[in-house]
Amino acid sequence: MSGHRKFTGRKLVVASHNPGKIREIGELLAAFDVEPVSAGSLGLPEPVEDGDSFIANAEIKALAAARGANMIALSDDSGFALEALDGAPGIYSARWAGPSKDFTIAMQKVEDELQKAGAMTPDARRARFICALTLAWPDGHVESFEGTVTGTAVWPPRGENGFGYDPVFLPDGYDLTFGEMDAAAKHAMSHRADAFRQLINACFTEK
Ligand code: IMP
Repeated sequence: MSGHRKFTGRKLVVASHNPGKIREIGELLAAFDVEPVSAGSLGLPEPVEDGDSFIANAEIKALAAARGANMIALSDDSGFALEALDGAPGIYSARWAGPSKDFTIAMQKVEDELQKAGAMTPDARRARFICALTLAWPDGHVESFEGTVTGTAVWPPRGENGFGYDPVFLPDGYDLTFGEMDAAAKHAMSHRADAFRQLINACFTEK
């Protein structure tokens, strides 16, 4: 018996305005009796993400949605981190894509910074994705989990699948980037899958 609060009910607000994440969260929750509703469809505003960690930002988003909708809400705060860049872009991963949210720009920026740092070998280009998930209740209770997946940053980008930095991430032990893998393969091993496993074990009951 865990001390975690369980999800009860059916509808769950997904506190994200990122269509790639909303789709993946829906796919990852498919085995559960949960109906995801996006924060955007409820007209909820996007709060300012001014936390200094993935979990802090996930909690800001989930609490704002839970209080705004008076429903249980789930948020994801995630990002890409390069060892050679001291963890950048990290919590600023979305911002590196600029106002047009163009990840070809963000991936090029990562590559430029790696080249500036002289990080040209696979060992020097160690990378990981991090995903913080928070389930929040309207009374302010939160349950938070962090997942990760490690690999290497490759150049040029490879593959059209997924979103964000997927085409430049080669997970350890695989020959395909996240951009080349199909969704099922990515879901079996991603940072989001890792965080979801923890969340589901703690807070969900299978249907
Ligand atoms: P957030 O919406 O502030 O959490 O921004 C996270 C950013 O990190 C996203 O916009 C993506 O660029 C990147 N990111 C997070 N998860 C993934 C993933 O699974 N694949 C590729 N990029 C990701």
